[in-house]
Amino acid sequence: MLAVTSEIFPLVKTGGLADVAGALPIALAAEGIETTTLIPGYPAVLAKLESAETVLNDGNFFGGPARLLRGRAAGLDLAVLDAPHLFDRPGNPYTAPDGGDWPDNAIRFAALSRMAATIATDGPGGLRPDILHAHDWQAGLTMAYLDGAPRPATILTVHNLAFQGNFDAAILPSLGLPANAFRIEGAEFHGMVGYLKAGLALADAITTVSPSYAAEIQTPEFGMGFDGLLRHRSGALYGILNGIDDNIWNPATDALIASRFDLHDLGGRAANKAALQSRFGLEQNGEALLLGVISRLSWQKGLDTLLPALDTLAALGAQLVILGAGEPDLEHRFRAAAAAHPGRIGCFIGYDEGLAHQTQAGIDAILIPSRFEPCGLTQLCALRYGALPIVARVGGLADTVIDANAAALAAHTGTGLQFSAGQFGQALHRAAALWSAPETWSRLQRNAMQTDVSWRRPAAQYAALYKSLAAGN
Ligand code: ADP
Repeated sequence: MLAVTSEIFPLVKTGGLADVAGALPIALAAEGIETTTLIPGYPAVLAKLESAETVLNDGNFFGGPARLLRGRAAGLDLAVLDAPHLFDRPGNPYTAPDGGDWPDNAIRFAALSRMAATIATDGPGGLRPDILHAHDWQAGLTMAYLDGAPRPATILTVHNLAFQGNFDAAILPSLGLPANAFRIEGAEFHGMVGYLKAGLALADAITTVSPSYAAEIQTPEFGMGFDGLLRHRSGALYGILNGIDDNIWNPATDALIASRFDLHDLGGRAANKAALQSRFGLEQNGEALLLGVISRLSWQKGLDTLLPALDTLAALGAQLVILGAGEPDLEHRFRAAAAAHPGRIGCFIGYDEGLAHQTQAGIDAILIPSRFEPCGLTQLCALRYGALPIVARVGGLADTVIDANAAALAAHTGTGLQFSAGQFGQALHRAAALWSAPETWSRLQRNAMQTDVSWRRPAAQYAALYKSLAAGN
């Protein structure tokens, strides 16, 4: 199987896509499926590539010389598109140092997709996949390059329909697409070249990262302009939940946290909570309900709706830590909230993997008020670390957290709290009530920690889909 992605953990990561791209090959190996992942040759990738071998050379690939390398890094089999004029740039894979998108992103990810199509049809260096699995808009144009050609079965996974890769049709001559790929049933999207659109229209199967999101995106409210197409393709659309790497996210062995713990002995959590309170300058108080946020600060994540709830939170005697980065306005408002509630609210603006682990290990509950959420990974990590997820009832959040309502409490099955739009404050009150009943809370924690959030089940579902597509091809 050839996976095509613009980021992969632990080499390059801006979000959940990287986690999925990094973890799925390992889980698929247990299902007997070998994966090679095609990834751009960013400096961070080339620096880690071991035993690299050149399998293809092109003197003029989208305006400069390019090579396709095969090698390994961080235990992953990689095919690397080494095209310095497109990818030898520092930092974030999509944005320039000034924070804006690279102006040539359309060309950069057309090049990635073109190379994926070449691998699929020409098999350079013995790489000839039976399945091509493209992720998100950055790989979506692959299906347009393959349009009309004999090709392996194709899958497009949508990690977030908000990121669509729509570009002015003036770039068409630079793309070198097959003659009629720019059509309504192909890459055309409202007069623009739609990279995600091409994949949605032309892939043999579409998957997205939770069953609820697969249903939601067929509605105008969540479809972001694609609901009609997705309803049309509903027979080929599947929702497969993400997992997390349960070796990296394992409170029993996690070297990044102050004190290790497991399902049978949660004692270590107290030390992690104390360490986190000290790290964020909060009052040392094991009795206070310590809530946390680990998130991109963007409209999608709904964290602006947390700001008016901060007074409720303080009145309940709770504490809050925020680890996040994103929209400058939200960064500013959370910093201001921390300054206004010293000892109660702590804020770290930035991206810090170690601090994410320490936060999951030390908080009592994580807040995820997303407006939409294709799957969400932070609630899965939280379940594993015994931090109860308090989540908006959307997408993958609805699919992975069992609301501790009266019925669930009676049946001992709750793992967190869900709330509907506008009910955030009420959910905080419910959380405070549960916190005041320590036995109930610790039962919920143990339920949460017993949830299977690994890749085992999702990998088996992907494997079954690959097999059915390969058989039908
Ligand atoms: P999305 O991909 O939409 O940002 P997900 O919940 O699917 O959201 O995945 C987010 C991933 O990024 C998780 O692994 C989470 O721990 C991590 N993350 C988000 N913000 C930060 C941050 N500020 N510091 C460290 N890790 C973060």
